Amino acid sequence: MRNLTRPRSRVFRTDWFNWRSSAIIDSVALIGGTALTSVLANAYELGPQLFQLGREHAEIDDIIFVGFVLIIGLMIYILRRYRDLVCEVKERTIAEREARELARHDSLTGLPNRRLFDEKLHACLSAVSDTRQVAVLMLGLDGFKRVKDRHGHLAADKALGEFANRVTGILREDGMLARIGEDEFGIIMSDIRSLDVPANLTSRIVASAAEAFAIEKVSAELGVGIGIAIAPSDGVNCDGLVRRAVRALCRARGDGRSCVRFFEPEMDTHVERRIHIERELRSAIAADIVEPHYQPLVSLKGERIIGFEALARWNNRTLGCIPPDVFIPIAEETGLIHALGDQLFRRACFDANAWPGTFTLAFNVSPIQLRDPTLGVRILAILGQTGFSPRRLEIEITESAFVENLEVAKTVIDELRQAGVRIALDDFGTGYATLSQLLSFRLDKIKIDRSFVSHLDDSADSRVIVRAILGLAQGFGLTTTAEGVEDAAQLAFLMANGCTEGQGYLFNKAIPAADIPALLSRMPYDSSVA
Ligand code: C2E
Ligand code: CA
Ligand code: CA
Repeated sequence: MRNLTRPRSRVFRTDWFNWRSSAIIDSVALIGGTALTSVLANAYELGPQLFQLGREHAEIDDIIFVGFVLIIGLMIYILRRYRDLVCEVKERTIAEREARELARHDSLTGLPNRRLFDEKLHACLSAVSDTRQVAVLMLGLDGFKRVKDRHGHLAADKALGEFANRVTGILREDGMLARIGEDEFGIIMSDIRSLDVPANLTSRIVASAAEAFAIEKVSAELGVGIGIAIAPSDGVNCDGLVRRAVRALCRARGDGRSCVRFFEPEMDTHVERRIHIERELRSAIAADIVEPHYQPLVSLKGERIIGFEALARWNNRTLGCIPPDVFIPIAEETGLIHALGDQLFRRACFDANAWPGTFTLAFNVSPIQLRDPTLGVRILAILGQTGFSPRRLEIEITESAFVENLEVAKTVIDELRQAGVRIALDDFGTGYATLSQLLSFRLDKIKIDRSFVSHLDDSADSRVIVRAILGLAQGFGLTTTAEGVEDAAQLAFLMANGCTEGQGYLFNKAIPAADIPALLSRMPYDSSVA
């Protein structure tokens, strides 16, 4: 890491030197001034005698001598002043250069910052052609936030520095690596003749980021997602090219850990649609249009309904039905999830008050909601306002919520559990949580992800995994719900292996609140299970 700050001792030396020079100059000027005054006074007094007598040659010599001394003094003064001026100009030039450097570099890594990156890109794009292409790569660290949350800012900064060093070591001499955002970097590669060049570079960067980062006596795992845009094919405008590389990075990040994606024109359309959805979602939340539908939770013993999971549904007048898999992530990214979550929960409690008194309401809480330490208080307040019992509520949380924000999640969950709310681990088996992390939370239920259940018929691996999860849950005294049960064979396997509850199209899809009475009239439900 480079230190771009100016050493203090040098500033002090310069100031002292300037002060000393000025003192000498002032003394010389003072002595010279005094001498000149006295000589002039003498000359004035002696003048008449000189003309009259023409004899005091000695005094004339004195005057000439003093004049000579004065001229020498003046010359010394001019020389010193000149030298001081040269020093001052030199110091100012250095200071200005250092200030310019600071304004163009990142103080943590010493890498060029966005400003220098843009300047370099402008310069490269002015010489771009079909045979001399320019590649802009946007790099986003995967797992950086987790490192920061777990090991603190200092460790995270060290990881950033280490990553910058690794990439600098891989980059070609003429390539530029810059730090663009907190955990985002940019690379410019000029004069490339084939797309293999950036592709090869990215695989080396991905491989190097995959090696553990040893920081503060701990080892941190990071990954890197990379988006690439190429000039001239993806544009020759600096901002446009960077925007497209960022869009490619967004796609890479959405596709998983350490993915690399080249920009494709379809990504522009995707982003525009996303912006449109976001705008519509804001109005839908303001108008309270997004509503919960309910999918039955079934006790496998006797196949009776014991509750419902609330699933968000949004029917937009121009866009049609937008699945929650699309709008929930947008709500999470924009922070709308907090208002939307509260709104849906209030409605769900209100609807659930009309169900048989023993029915459970299962409600999904996203990892982003769990970053908010006030979530528990808000949930309990809504329960109080709607009069729905906390003992009938089951909050579904995914593994990533635990990984991302252990401490806040723990506090919120503790608050809810103390009030009697049960906690279910959703999509079990798809996240990155370690078993010990999961065990540090007191859970009531595990929901086996649909991806395992749907392959019970054709994958021996899925059968082994499901059996293992069921065994684990039994060992810890947890209830289990199998998600996405679609056929009788899956149901038979799950029952034979001790799964307690099921959910899926075999029983029913999610339906509006108004359709629940009709469902209950044709499907058995258990009013003795709480
Ligand atoms: P999830 O919590 O895992 O919900 C189960 C999803 O599987 C639902 O999709 C449900 O309709 C679907 N499903 C249930 N049974 C079957 C089946 O037998 N076969 C198939 N193929 N699918 C089945 P949905 O409603 O599209 O929800 C998707 C995800 O969106 C949910 O996954 C949940 O993560 C999220 N989500 C839905 N509503 C909310 C909400 O109110 N808040 C939050 N934070 N997330 C929500
Ligand atoms: Ca769920
Ligand atoms: Ca699930």
